[in-house]
Amino acid sequence: MVDKLVNSEANARRIAMVESCFGSSGQPLGVPGRVLVGEGVLTKMCRKKPKTRQFFLFNDILVYGNIIINKKKYNKQHIIPLEEVKLESLDDDNQYKNGWLIKTASKSFAVYAATAVEKSEWMAHINKCIDDLLRKSGKKAVSEHAAVWVPDTEASICMHCKKTQFTLINRRHHCRKCGAVVCGPCSNKRFLLPSQSSKPLRVCLHCYNALTAASQKNQNSSTDSTQKGINADSSGEEDSDDDEEANKTQPEFHDMPKFYGDNEKAE
Ligand SMILES: [Zn+2]
Ligand SMILES: [Zn+2]
Repeated sequence: MVDKLVNSEANARRIAMVESCFGSSGQPLGVPGRVLVGEGVLTKMCRKKPKTRQFFLFNDILVYGNIIINKKKYNKQHIIPLEEVKLESLDDDNQYKNGWLIKTASKSFAVYAATAVEKSEWMAHINKCIDDLLRKSGKKAVSEHAAVWVPDTEASICMHCKKTQFTLINRRHHCRKCGAVVCGPCSNKRFLLPSQSSKPLRVCLHCYNALTAASQKNQNSSTDSTQKGINADSSGEEDSDDDEEANKTQPEFHDMPKFYGDNEKAE
């Protein structure tokens, strides 16, 4: 089991390997008590299109990055504390299968595995790590999560006024509360969403009215505003992980994800 790996040499070696693949573009990952639980490739839905990303599941964090050279070099490291994470399974549709949402307070997005088996392995391992972590720390799971963004390609007209056609001049914007793609005039209001930022964020008029009404009643509007359908990354940093250069040269490959500790003795 994972606990047996804590002080094992194999674990230390694997973590050092992940660290060296990210090189100076990443954070130091070797922390006492940390275990690399598993790793593999997932397709992450980004604002413009789905992209291949390498994911590393540790017992306390989820790390992912762009693949520059498979198993050798990654960049654009993102670190998500597992305490904040909530998973939500997505139903298959014609285009996208074996997906689930990774929701956190500041950012939520959809990922897709190659097969249904891999999806259930990933979800089970991540959920186990979250449960263990919360139990050990005695902390409560985060209840409010950022909305998952509707990908740009899903909306050719504003989802609020249903009139404005998006063009180079009429740009798409995302409501930080519900994730809808809306035009400028339909998102000209800002509202303070403390779980996402200390500054007021862009919200659509619909959410603005709802949030204002709720705050006037001095109530918390904690409704889960996840939309049905396809979802993109809701990171506040727009296009933060767009990397056209890296994606052009990306090879087509499929490696099974590896999960450590299941059939392995501590060294
Ligand atoms: Zn509009
Ligand atoms: Zn909204």
